[in-house]
Amino acid sequence: MPHPCLTCGACCAFFRVSFHWSEADAALGGQVPFEFTEPLRTHERAMRGTSQSHPRCIALDARIGEYSRCTIHDRRPSVCALVPASHEFGVASAQCDKARIAHGLPVLTPDDWVGVAEAERNPLPCQA
Ligand code: SF4
Ligand code: SF4
Repeated sequence: MPHPCLTCGACCAFFRVSFHWSEADAALGGQVPFEFTEPLRTHERAMRGTSQSHPRCIALDARIGEYSRCTIHDRRPSVCALVPASHEFGVASAQCDKARIAHGLPVLTPDDWVGVAEAERNPLPCQA
């Protein structure tokens, strides 16, 4: 049973993804590819594609609801890792539910995790 995020990607095509500019500054140890970002407010940058009226992160490789992966998974902004998938760790996630509903997907339930190997569950949940 694949991790549900790998057939979703809805949150990466719903929210504006903003973070402190230093996360995209290699000179300061930032890991997010600078060219994938754009300026936002004074101390923030955003992932390109997520500030528009129909957001879709530039780093997202997905057909929402079918397959999904983050092309910069190891270098994604810290905020991405903080979006929990509903019921992965026993509780619903308003962000996950909101994004999935907006894309016409059913919200995840505890049943969606039956058969997902413990090893596949990510303590930093957003796999998209
Ligand atoms: S956290 Fe939720 S909305 Fe985001 S990819 Fe996973 S299942 Fe989809
Ligand atoms: S997890 Fe990756 S694809 Fe999703 S919003 Fe973050 S950087 Fe973009």
